[in-house]
Amino acid sequence: MAETTNTPVTVLGLGAMGQALAAALLKGGHPTTVWNRTPGKDADLVAAGAIGAASVAEAVQAGGPIIVVLFDHASVHATLDPAVGDLSGRQVINLTSTTPNEARELATWAAAHGIDYLDGGIMAVPSMIGQPGASILYSGSRIIYDQHLEAFELLAAAEYFGDDAGLASTYDFALLANMYTMFTGFLHGAAMMRSVGVTASAFAERAVPWVTAMAQMLPAYGQIIDSGDYTTPIQSLAFHKAALDAINRATRDAGVTVDFVAPIKNLIDRQVADGNGTLEFARTIEELT
Ligand code: NDP
Repeated sequence: MAETTNTPVTVLGLGAMGQALAAALLKGGHPTTVWNRTPGKDADLVAAGAIGAASVAEAVQAGGPIIVVLFDHASVHATLDPAVGDLSGRQVINLTSTTPNEARELATWAAAHGIDYLDGGIMAVPSMIGQPGASILYSGSRIIYDQHLEAFELLAAAEYFGDDAGLASTYDFALLANMYTMFTGFLHGAAMMRSVGVTASAFAERAVPWVTAMAQMLPAYGQIIDSGDYTTPIQSLAFHKAALDAINRATRDAGVTVDFVAPIKNLIDRQVADGNGTLEFARTIEELT
């Protein structure tokens, strides 16, 4: 049965993200019960109409789906395990960042206790919740997803990937890996620019359009990787080796550590040494698995 805005929702965990999620549910008209390990973090939410619960058992008595947004996999077990008797027959949506295998472990644990389980990965910071640009990726119980889609869309754009509870987390962590290497590339460039007196803010203004333009190459790389044919390069590994060698020298000359550049330089050097210099740069993926 599809829900209405009258469907009660419980949120376990009132860190920055849990508070943002609970606030969006309240704003959307859902009776919202909240709990946090350390008391006192529910003050603003209670003032806005949420019901503050003193324990997990009390929080889940409100009925409806239970959204869990805690620190990590261990804190999810620390919170849910003691309340397992109250959770049997209920729906748990875990939006805590967990690895794919941790999400699968939680799904198996939930199934063993008669709990329906949906995992999710939040692709947003708290201030983005309820705003355009935020998305949450889901996998696990399709029943929970379909039944509560209206509530999920109050939080962020929602997308469901399949019944393997680890799928959403795989997307989440793959995207985060992409994000972190992009951020570290920016830090590396900003350190180089600092050596000639250019501020990081000024560099950021140039880096944004450059990174945005270069990101447009990703679909072409994707097609080459999926074809498995690296013989018609956009740019060869030998070309990129020369570039990385020069970037390495320029980095050292600027007094900057090569820590961020070294991993990709090492991967390219290895392939060129193995005789693959004429092949497409995207072949580097074959060195990763
Ligand atoms: P916070 O550090 O602000 O809050 C952590 C929450 O976990 C608090 O409610 C804390 O309770 C609780 N907690 C920690 N350890 C335990 C434990 N052993 N038992 C019970 N509760 C515990 O984190 P966020 O709210 O920012 O993040 C929550 C989740 O959302 C994380 O998994 C994070 O990766 C994910 N996320 C966060 C994003 C962000 O930008 N903030 C972005 C995308 C995902 P207490 O107050 O008692 O310490």
